[in-house]
Amino acid sequence: MHTKIINGKDIALRIRQGLKEEINKLKVKPILAVILIGHDGPSEIYVRNKQRAAQEVGIESKLYTFDEDVTQQEVENLITSLNQDSSVNGILLQLPVPAKLNAQVLLEKIDSKKDVDGFHPLNIGYLQNGDKKAVIAATPKGVLRLLKETGVALKGLNALVIGRSIIVGKPMAMLLLNEDCTVTIAHSATKNLQNLSKNADIIVSACGCAKMIKKEWLKDGAIIIDVGICRDESGKLCGDVDFEDVLGTASHVTPVPNGVGPMTIAMLLENTLEAYLKQRS
Ligand code: NAD
Repeated sequence: MHTKIINGKDIALRIRQGLKEEINKLKVKPILAVILIGHDGPSEIYVRNKQRAAQEVGIESKLYTFDEDVTQQEVENLITSLNQDSSVNGILLQLPVPAKLNAQVLLEKIDSKKDVDGFHPLNIGYLQNGDKKAVIAATPKGVLRLLKETGVALKGLNALVIGRSIIVGKPMAMLLLNEDCTVTIAHSATKNLQNLSKNADIIVSACGCAKMIKKEWLKDGAIIIDVGICRDESGKLCGDVDFEDVLGTASHVTPVPNGVGPMTIAMLLENTLEAYLKQRS
């Protein structure tokens, strides 16, 4: 079987180009507020990348930084003032926050209409209800877009989601359920994962286990979306899927890098524009 490689980078570029054209037509540009607490190296890089991507499509981003010793109250006060500021359309709290802060309380404090990450309980509930008001977390939203790009009808397919985090696995499972897939969620305590994967038409893997999924795990023609970001034994970036190994067995597969990653940023930008448009309608 010829395996099609889903090029997330190209698809994300096309989406960003479309967003740029839409935003160009707006008199007032959308504003995204980004809150960064402490000096976690990777978080600083992620924030910089998100800000650069926002700027490229015409979204203005405002960065609010705090030192590690900030109090819960100080961060909550900032969120309250950003909620009240009608010029701010989206609020993003970069995770993780220092352990002494209660991240869940901070996320719940963000106005659900400005919650461009889709982590607010109201948005999670809307997603569960299949309500269009839901702001959907960027990574699973991007994965669904990649699945739709294959042109394969999702209705009735067996989908296996590996991982049950609130940022990837759980919303992913709900999105696939809303697409009429029959969904199985696997996690670290799941037994006989390989038996489950053999039965899956779609596998979305988000467990962070380097090259765990091999061709023997797959049903012929399965669609494989690899969310994992891992390092192999030689320190090279890879995903949860043994990419080279599954070529010839899967019908479609995403590479790491240039698969899901670029889609996450594109969906964050799309969520910001959508928040802006909803707030102005
Ligand atoms: P997490 O650590 O919160 O969750 C991992 C999940 O995988 C857990 O539910 C755990 O039960 C499950 N798991 C762990 N080992 C397993 C195993 N052997 N078999 C089955 N399930 C297992 O991680 P997360 O935040 O959901 O991220 C998952 C992966 O996706 C990580 O590699 C992360 O770097 C990556 N990620 C990528 C993007 C992107 O934009 N590409 C975005 C978010 C996360």
